[in-house]
Amino acid sequence: MGEFSSTQLILVVEDEPLVQELVALNLKHAGFAVAIAQNVVQAQIALSTTQPTLAIVDAMLPDGDGFLLTRQARDQGLTLPILLLTARNDTQSKVRGLDCGADDYLTKPFDVPELLARVRALLRRGKVGGTTLAAERWRLGNFWARFDTGEAFTHEGDVRLSEKELGLLMLFHKHENQLLSRADILEEVWGMDSFPTDRTVDNFILRLRKLFEPLPDEPRHFITLRGRGYLFRR
Ligand code: CA
Repeated sequence: MGEFSSTQLILVVEDEPLVQELVALNLKHAGFAVAIAQNVVQAQIALSTTQPTLAIVDAMLPDGDGFLLTRQARDQGLTLPILLLTARNDTQSKVRGLDCGADDYLTKPFDVPELLARVRALLRRGKVGGTTLAAERWRLGNFWARFDTGEAFTHEGDVRLSEKELGLLMLFHKHENQLLSRADILEEVWGMDSFPTDRTVDNFILRLRKLFEPLPDEPRHFITLRGRGYLFRR
């Protein structure tokens, strides 16, 4: 199997027929399989059903915009590389594109060789990340989480942990078998910039149990020490 074999499916989300054809044709020539979505609704269906390796997303779509589509994909835990196409060559679009979770962005009109080079770079980057950072996987039984990306395999299948969920998990990982009071946890994970209640911590512990405990209702790993706090043990 070659590095860019035809098993790699690229989703092209674009409503302009000429750009769509140009991109699709060149990707196929380069050996990729291509799926097309004309709008946000089609793109959402394609993302959830076809599991593309990478998506090229136009910023301006008939029923919405590529920024929001990208944000929603990230919120749903999709980690595929996303390359945004935008007609506007200004810093604001660029910042917005990267803020919404896109990996790269290209301004229209673009050269096809440059587009292909960006696609290859994104695929390579994904590959490198997958191998070098695999060692940072936290494991508990059949389940795992990656501290670099927040991707996790849990009772709920593949999920992406939120920043706080991941922070809490890392804290327990660093302090295995140590008592952590709610105040410790609040200070380490939530810091000074927000004012959660003790109940917030409890809810996040429940969430970690639900994701990672073999029997979430009978926790054996994320333990409550009544009146004192929490402790993680293997
Ligand atoms: Ca468009």
